[in-house]
This record gives sequence, C-alpha cells and structure tokens, in this order.
Amino acid sequence: MLKPRECIATLEPYRSPIISRAGLNLDLNENTAGCSERVLARLRALTQRDVAMYPEREVGERLVGNFLGVRPEQVLLTNGVDEGLLLLCAAYLGEGDEMLLADPTFVMYPIYGRAAGARLARVTAGEDFAFPTGDLLARISSRTRLITIANPNNPTGTLVPRADLLRVLDAAPDAAVLVDEAYFEFGGETLLPELSRYGNLFIARTFSKVYGLAGLRLGALIGAPEQIGCMRRFCSPFNVNAAALACLEEALADQAFVSEYVAQVKEGRERLAKLCEELGLRSWPSRTNFVLMRVGASCGKFVEVMARRGVRVRDVSANPGCEGCVRITVGTREQMDDVVRAVRGAVGESRS
Ligand code: PMP
Repeated sequence: MLKPRECIATLEPYRSPIISRAGLNLDLNENTAGCSERVLARLRALTQRDVAMYPEREVGERLVGNFLGVRPEQVLLTNGVDEGLLLLCAAYLGEGDEMLLADPTFVMYPIYGRAAGARLARVTAGEDFAFPTGDLLARISSRTRLITIANPNNPTGTLVPRADLLRVLDAAPDAAVLVDEAYFEFGGETLLPELSRYGNLFIARTFSKVYGLAGLRLGALIGAPEQIGCMRRFCSPFNVNAAALACLEEALADQAFVSEYVAQVKEGRERLAKLCEELGLRSWPSRTNFVLMRVGASCGKFVEVMARRGVRVRDVSANPGCEGCVRITVGTREQMDDVVRAVRGAVGESRS
C-alpha cells in the first residue's frame, strides 16, 4: 500500500477548530468589526480581467516593503502566515534537524515542523507564562535549525522581552529564528529594526487580524534578502490570490479603520480583565485581540453554555499551563455588552 513519509503518517489527523459559525465567533481571533469599507469597495470593483489573470505578487511586496520601511527583496507575501511557516520549515528543516519552541504557543508550529521531518525540542513557559529564555537557550545545539516564537504569544497574549529575543538571535546564528508578530498592532513590539543586524531573523505579519482579511489569506514573511530569496525559489509564484492583492493598497491606506478597531479591542480587553476580577477568575494581561482566562475544571461546560448563549469561545485547556482555561477574542464595543452578559451567565451556570 502507498505510504506517505513516516513523519506525515505519524501526524494526528488535523481537526478544524471551526465547529459552527452561528452566533458571535470569538474562538479564532478574527476581526469581529469586519474589514475596512474601502477594502470591500475594492473587492466589489474587481473585473473579469482581474479574476481571469494570474496574480502579480511583486506589486504587493513593494507596497508592504514601503509600508514597513524595508526593501521589497526582504518581503515574501504568503497565503496567510500559515504558508510562511510551511515555507520556513521546508527551507530550513530536514530529517534529524531540530525545531525549538516554547509551550504553550501557536498550534501550527509543531505540525509544520514535524511534517518537515524535524524533531521537536520543547521548553515550557514559567510562572504566568514568562518566556523560558534560560531553558530555551540551553536547548540550542548544532541540530537546532528553526526556532519559532509568537510575540505576542497565542494563546496567552503575553509578550517576550526584547532583550530575550536578541539573546536567542545571538545564541543561534545557524538557526532561522521566526518572531511571529501576527498580533503586533494590538500593542506589541516589533523586531523590524533589528533585521539589518541579524541574518537569521524572520518576522511574520498577517492581514488576518487587525486588517480583518482572514478570509482572503494574506501574510508576509520579512527577513534578510538572501534568505527570503531562497524561499522565493520554490514558493508558488501565484500563492497569493488576486482579490487579496487588489485589496492590499486600500487595507494599508485605511489606518483609521485599524486604529478604531485597536482602540475598541484595548477597551474590550480591559472590560474582560475587570469582569474576571469581579468573578474571581484568573486572567492574564493581553497584548493581543484575545484574553486568556481560567474558568476552572468546568471549562468544557463553560464553553458549551457560552455557545448556547450565542458566543463561541475556545477551550485551550489542553495547552501546557492552560489547564481550565478558555481564550476569548475581544469583540467590538457593542458586542462586548453581550459577551459580558454571556460570561456572567455561563460562570453562574457552570458553577452550579
Ligand atoms: N501566527 C499566530 C501566532 C496566530 O495566532 C495565527 C492565527 N491564529 C497565525 C499565525 C496564522 O495567521 P494567518 O491567518 O495569517 O495564517
């Protein structure tokens, strides 16, 4: 019988996190304000010709390069950050190589790493999800070829101190170090200014979160021109679709949409933090558009009751250190009234 490579055959079947799209979806950290009206207008103006022709990614790479203040050669646009991860794994990992990561973190990192045939070296966050810098540095070896760090992190919402990231970059000159800044705009910090100093640094950005384009699939991998050039050699030349590329200019231009959404998220996450305090639930200060909170042993029931009340949240209790925890995407000002009501009700019900 035909058999895939061992590293693929031994992967657990992937289960989509999407159970239902009914109600308010606060389980995937999407932009619940939608996207910019200007983006929608551009989409509506797409012509038959736009759709019939292969997309031109280079135009988008110039736009993103300009926006971020880097050269277009340093930017590879991808089909979401997800594809960027896959490309990084394909470029730097082979059988016997090691991918190093700190749990809990974004669930796709280990999947792509294992699919590339790499062994996973995992360290675990400390108290209150403090980044385990010492442990991670101690695990770097000549086999370490890729280190993935989400900053801010998912599912915790926490930030890694800049100095710690630089220590990792210094300690692993022969490994690709990905600093995944998918949630940068919500109050994160960026390592972009360090690109010229570190040939091993890659930064990922996405249009799925603050820009509200998750359905269009658009991400960017930014790094040293030589490294990005290597990935361009085998990346599909048409990986980013024409609709996403057509919207890029409008999405970047409408920073008013971005700041308004960020302001609402900051307000909403404060509200959630206060609510947790009031209800005696532990939550962690977030630099993203979601909040991690510990609802306790009745976590599964809480998620169920919330869904019945029309709000989908994510059970993340299987992640190391996240026992009894759910992750709730922050909604808009209006949506947060319903969310607060649902959380209060669900806490009451799942405790009874
Ligand atoms: N990185 C992190 C840390 C994420 O949380 C996510 C999405 N949840 C992604 C990457 C994937 O983003 P994209 O939609 O661009 O593939």
